[in-house]
Amino acid sequence: MPAPNIDTIVSLAKRRGFVFPSSEVYGGLGSAWDYGPLGVELCNNVKQSWWRWIVYDRDDIEGIDSSIILNRLVWQYSGHEATFHDPLVDCRECKTRLRADKIDLPEDGKGSGVAELIRQKRVKCPNCESTDLTEPRLFNMMFRTTLGAAAVEDDPTSLAYLRPETAQGIFINFLNVQTAMRRKVPFGIAQIGKSFRNEITPGNFILRTREFEQMEMEYFVKPDAEHLKLVDEWVEQYVEWFKGLGISGDNLQLHEVPAEELAHYSKRTVDIMYRYFPERPEEPRQWEELMGIAYRTDFDLRSHSSKAVDGEGTRINPDSTEDLSYFDETTKQRFYPHVIEPAAGVNRTVLAVLMDAYSEKTNDKGETRVILKLVPKLAPIKAAILPLAKNKPEIVGMAKAIKRSLQPVLRAVYDDTGGIGKLYARQDEIGTPFCVTVDHQSLEDEAVTVRDRDTWEQERIKVSNLAEHLQNRLKE
Ligand SMILES: [Zn+2]
Repeated sequence: MPAPNIDTIVSLAKRRGFVFPSSEVYGGLGSAWDYGPLGVELCNNVKQSWWRWIVYDRDDIEGIDSSIILNRLVWQYSGHEATFHDPLVDCRECKTRLRADKIDLPEDGKGSGVAELIRQKRVKCPNCESTDLTEPRLFNMMFRTTLGAAAVEDDPTSLAYLRPETAQGIFINFLNVQTAMRRKVPFGIAQIGKSFRNEITPGNFILRTREFEQMEMEYFVKPDAEHLKLVDEWVEQYVEWFKGLGISGDNLQLHEVPAEELAHYSKRTVDIMYRYFPERPEEPRQWEELMGIAYRTDFDLRSHSSKAVDGEGTRINPDSTEDLSYFDETTKQRFYPHVIEPAAGVNRTVLAVLMDAYSEKTNDKGETRVILKLVPKLAPIKAAILPLAKNKPEIVGMAKAIKRSLQPVLRAVYDDTGGIGKLYARQDEIGTPFCVTVDHQSLEDEAVTVRDRDTWEQERIKVSNLAEHLQNRLKE
């Protein structure tokens, strides 16, 4: 049984130190969230799992870490300056801001377009039901900043952007990585990093935020590769990866993005959707994008290349000093590789993982306990070492020594701030797979009790075997 709704996770996340509302001492900041002691561990574990899978386990992908602020020309030639827009509509009555492409249109007016329907007063503000709405106008979603001390507010030569995707940092380094690492197409470049989009309507906790973290990979292939099949292959592999993070297949769904909704660079995009809104009665409205797999053609590498030409033979990029084409030694042909791009969000993945791991269990006293059934590799803490009596120095000393001895191989904590029942419940709620209890008997037999989070079963383990025992069980 996953979480019944996002709100359940919001309150658990705040109470237990996963995610806090940002800037709360000043009343907060819309859609900004801070990751607490357990949240940062969970995020790191998700990123580490991805990096191991995509960079280490495979032999055809390299990793990089590019700058957040790039030369403005990157965003000019990538098409983001001209096309990375959302259509914005304001309600004159209640001042609500709406995304024109997300407004519910009357069933019989869908052919006329939202602008025409607004003129005809046939579109209602979802907040106050007024039909007094402004016409849609385009709003660029890139965050602007200025570079350099001498920069004045509106000096166009100092204008720069916070990246809206990590992908461009990969494209402009294609030749660097290919040459330095002696790579042959097909190969991929992966990157994890923060991106920024000035969303008109952020919301739903960490699902849609203006600052977010991406795990993107650009896979470069020959122009005649079977691109659409490659998209399907990556979709399949990602579905399996998400299942390996403990997400149930029942809560995943594929969505073929219709041609008219594709981004300017994409010829095909398949979204993997997660059931973030199980509480909504209409099934189609329960789903939201978890990640997308796009076929970006050779659009980006051509756009950044000094020698690429358009249909009339005119250079499409007079500013670039490099040509990002690739020479195939076997066919003696030069070409711009095509790209398949799986782009996933750390934060969206973390939310899906938390929702799917959430469960409740009733103990023998009839009390309901929350158990976060995280797969062990994602759990922020792998083992909690708990002394049965905190006023017995020998027991406390032994428990602390066990914590220290485990720490080099797995994340362990020591806790003596409550009775044992309460300590177990606290660890269950944050997904700690194992509690290790040190009791009076431990002083005699050099053994401890290991309690399983999911079954609440206990077994007695020799301290000398404890690290190995836990490591084996964490692999299950
Ligand atoms: Zn309104």
